[in-house]
Amino acid sequence: MALPFEELDFGPPDYREMLPATLAKNYGQWKYHELLEPGVFKHVSKTGDEVYTIRTGAPKFIASSTIRQLCDIADKYCESSLRFTSRHSIDWIVPKKEDVDKLKEEVEGLGLPVGGTGDSMHSIVQCTGWVHCHTPATDSPGIAKAVCDELFEEFKADNLPSRLNIAVSGCLNMCGAVHCSDIALLGMHRVPPQVDDDLVKACEIPSLIAACPTYAIKPKMMKNPDGSITKSITINGEKCMYCGICYGLCPGLPLADAKNDGISIWVGGKVSNTRSGPAFSRLAIPFIPNNPPRWPETIAMVKKIVEAWKADARPHERMGEWIERIGWPAFFKKTGIDFTEKHIDDYIFNIRDMNVGTRVRGSDL
Ligand code: SF4
Ligand code: SF4
Repeated sequence: MALPFEELDFGPPDYREMLPATLAKNYGQWKYHELLEPGVFKHVSKTGDEVYTIRTGAPKFIASSTIRQLCDIADKYCESSLRFTSRHSIDWIVPKKEDVDKLKEEVEGLGLPVGGTGDSMHSIVQCTGWVHCHTPATDSPGIAKAVCDELFEEFKADNLPSRLNIAVSGCLNMCGAVHCSDIALLGMHRVPPQVDDDLVKACEIPSLIAACPTYAIKPKMMKNPDGSITKSITINGEKCMYCGICYGLCPGLPLADAKNDGISIWVGGKVSNTRSGPAFSRLAIPFIPNNPPRWPETIAMVKKIVEAWKADARPHERMGEWIERIGWPAFFKKTGIDFTEKHIDDYIFNIRDMNVGTRVRGSDL
């Protein structure tokens, strides 16, 4: 017999139990909303109620003392509720119009900028990168901060052709949502994990081999001078996609490489299906060396892309829609980015693209 839903539901609590009073009262009744100024929305309900949503940027890492300050403000103006968006912004939902300016003053006093709505640069999504992960090829929060500082006016204003979503992921596992952003900054490893046989021999080798998603890991037997056998592994670099799963299972396979790690830039992705369907980001710049703490080369390229799009796109045209309209050759020309052989995907498992093009693997054309 099927169990009742309440007994099957082991996830987080039902969000409806936590709605602030005004949102609970008007649930399903919203008539329309409008953008009053960059960062401030007004929602109007069929019941006649209104709420004002003030959006602020927020850091990826927040001290608990700061969270207490945020909660004090929410207690004062927002019916004791806060909403963190999936782009790490904070939506402050205020039922009283006269509280909007007071809230803005208080949150800006804490250093949280109001903006990131409409045709502006929205908050930059980023993964933990070097701060807290074993797989990164770059420092996602550091790059996000440097890029955001440089484009800060675009966060507070509302004068881009359309919204601009920028994301940073430290590696291709894409915890930073880079696969579908207008501009995606993706950490790139360029060499497979380095095998340290002394450490690998202490790891569970069958699990290691089974965990590799591309079957790049094979067992290796080494005969020692005393005739005994040491078991380790080898990695087929042609098949490895630098996901770091093996390093998560075995410390003898470090993936980080100071000389070969860096950043790539991808463009034109989006999630929404407004006007055109969702799209994956495509490669624009294959590799830029890491240059912390301010990544000047990366920032210069991001600015070039934004400036070309801003100057040339039609109203409401997302980055990818603009590129589709003008064509990729024009994109490379207008941004001054070189098109190189690195833009051609020759990864060994890229069978689908290889076989649908006019030039196939092994062809002389
Ligand atoms: S994208 Fe890569 S580097 Fe970033 S948190 Fe995920 S696994 Fe770690
Ligand atoms: S990094 Fe990923 S693809 Fe490469 S060997 Fe390890 S598990 Fe396999």
